[in-house]
Amino acid sequence: MLTLDTDIIKISRIGESAAKRLKKLGIETARDLLFYFPFRYDDFSHLTPINKLQAGISANVVGQIELIQNKRSPRQRMNITEALINDGTEILKIIWFNQPFIARNLKVGDNISLAGKVEENYSGLTMNSPVYEKIQPSYSLCHVSGAVHTQGLVPNYHLTAKITQKQIRFLIKQIIGLSAQIIDWQPQEIKKNFKLISLADAIKKIHFPKNNFDLKQARERLAFDELFLIQLQSQLVKKNLSMSKSPAIKFYEQETKNFVNSLCFRLTNAQRKSAWEILQDIANSRPMSRLLEGDVGSGKTIVAIIVMLNAALNKKQAVLMVPTEILAKQHYDTICRLLSNFDIKIGLISRSQRQIFNFQFLIDKNKIKNQDIINNSDIIIGTHALIQEDIKFQDLALAIIDEQHRFGVEQRAALMRTNADKKHGLMPHLLSMTATPIPRSLALALYGDLDLSVINEMPKQRKKIITKIVPECEREKAYDFIREQIKQGRQVFVICPLIDISDKLGVKSVEEEYKKLDKIVFPDLTIGKLHGRLATAEKEKIMQEFLDNKIKILVSTSVVEVGVDIPNASVMMIEGADRFGLAQIHQFRGRVGRSIYQSYCFLFARLDLPSGIVSGSIQQSEITLKRLQALVDNHNGFDLAKMDLKFRGPGQVYGAEQKGFPQLKIASLFDYILMKQARDQAVKLIDIDPSLNKWPNLKEKLGDWEKTTHLE
Ligand code: ADP
Ligand code: MG
Repeated sequence: MLTLDTDIIKISRIGESAAKRLKKLGIETARDLLFYFPFRYDDFSHLTPINKLQAGISANVVGQIELIQNKRSPRQRMNITEALINDGTEILKIIWFNQPFIARNLKVGDNISLAGKVEENYSGLTMNSPVYEKIQPSYSLCHVSGAVHTQGLVPNYHLTAKITQKQIRFLIKQIIGLSAQIIDWQPQEIKKNFKLISLADAIKKIHFPKNNFDLKQARERLAFDELFLIQLQSQLVKKNLSMSKSPAIKFYEQETKNFVNSLCFRLTNAQRKSAWEILQDIANSRPMSRLLEGDVGSGKTIVAIIVMLNAALNKKQAVLMVPTEILAKQHYDTICRLLSNFDIKIGLISRSQRQIFNFQFLIDKNKIKNQDIINNSDIIIGTHALIQEDIKFQDLALAIIDEQHRFGVEQRAALMRTNADKKHGLMPHLLSMTATPIPRSLALALYGDLDLSVINEMPKQRKKIITKIVPECEREKAYDFIREQIKQGRQVFVICPLIDISDKLGVKSVEEEYKKLDKIVFPDLTIGKLHGRLATAEKEKIMQEFLDNKIKILVSTSVVEVGVDIPNASVMMIEGADRFGLAQIHQFRGRVGRSIYQSYCFLFARLDLPSGIVSGSIQQSEITLKRLQALVDNHNGFDLAKMDLKFRGPGQVYGAEQKGFPQLKIASLFDYILMKQARDQAVKLIDIDPSLNKWPNLKEKLGDWEKTTHLE
């Protein structure tokens, strides 16, 4: 008997290898499969009689096979399958390339349903490489026949290689009946208020909508669910927060002024204002929970340092958690340098490095434990290592999370729990920092528990980064330009989507590009490579060499996306730009243009057509070009994120790396009205019963959701 919890391997027709591939997509059980939603639909809701077909349109046709045969095209060394289909009005020619098995699957006399684009060539109208499926013989033009792949609104899923749309539709169709077993956790009142359909119905309709109305209803229900859970959680956090206390951190005005005056630059007004807001907030015993938002390069770090300095002057501990070891080391070095005039001990903790600055007693560096560092430091900088081990702070008054979008809510909570100061029931003030551009209204709606400070201005002398989409034929020119920049003393980033030489996709990889640049293009220059698989010490060394201007060109994966600061770099070259989100590329671009030098961002993308591929890809490369053009014209991270939403859909906007942002499948982060409705409902429920015991199904759902949504 199949249930929702049945392992997918038990669903008939899923073999070992298919199961493995599905598991890669996160699909382990029948339930997961049902909750794997399509990202778009092909509209084949109208059958067209063959005699009414026109060139250039996508159509759905049903008919009987009159002839089917394989041919070889000797010149192109291609196998061609030709078929003739008759629907009683006319005969249509069908062609498939390099799929000889089709001629074995289909026989003369079979009834089939086809979906594809109609084209015209010397022999009249044809359909090239349509999707096809066999159907029951008893069809007529207006009576649909149980077709899943070629008629009505046909779902399309995000898939990995070797799983086909057909396969996954077939599998979901088999178990769609199980949706009746899904517990509908949404309280009845809410469903009634918003006229939401049942969860079981929504699941059925999201996969196999009969029409656009079905789809609309399904989306409304599922989108509301997503936003509602987010709101419920953040309202509960807010409620808890309002009942706790934090240590008040007094503002050391004179010391702060002296420190700010000692910097080699003047703070921008926005930096001053943000620092001031934060300092005022933590002077209170009401716990601060604040998001500091500022575009890449706007100078968030220095604001964090000012705040941590004040905590240390209060003789209290502050911790700064960051997503990568590279960034941890960089912040550690910066902070040690800037605070060297103060008697403040600074500790560094990450998986492979431990260090403590300004510490009188020498401990054997190899034996030093994380807990020793914590016990002896005023300011601690660290990675996830801070929350993975059983670390306890003595007197933590301030927790700062850099690049907060890379952490889940659960990790944020774990950091807050590291404070041992249970006896006074105190919790640290929390400051999260992000370059992800979320407008104020959205941040408040999304994270009802956070206050917001915004650095909305860049340091003065910055120049706009000149961005160009570079066609393949001008690659050499780009390399010449890079050589010139390096001659002038600058440095260059090259970003690739993958680490290793890729498969047939032709996507650029770090290894491959590194080799090419090092051996062929710039044999006279020092080139470095960086990716997540290198040992930390190695990464460290390379970063240091790049910082010291020994390495001129750094070839890297997206690991440099986050926070790394190399002011001398002036060119950011992005390979396979079509593989990244706009907001993400904007982050890469923020790695350059951090000093007075004019900086450049070059985008390389596959816009050419691989031969023998269906007509759809022309359209695809036009879309890619449009998307990338947005980066040329626009330098505002938020606008770019919004545009990406249009091009790539909500799940993709902030990149797969994005944590802490709820992974929305259906709803949009930009749907303020629905967000507000969900929030109002959440507030209402919590007012009635903050324990949620009145709605046991909802309570259980929220628990599960928190576990699965935000953890790594
Ligand atoms: P982000 O906001 O992306 O974290 P950083 O804090 O890393 O940005 O700052 C980027 C660079 O700008 C750093 O080299 C920093 O020293 C410098 N910087 C910060 N504030 C200013 C300022 N007011 N004027 C000039 N340079 C600044
Ligand atoms: Mg930063």
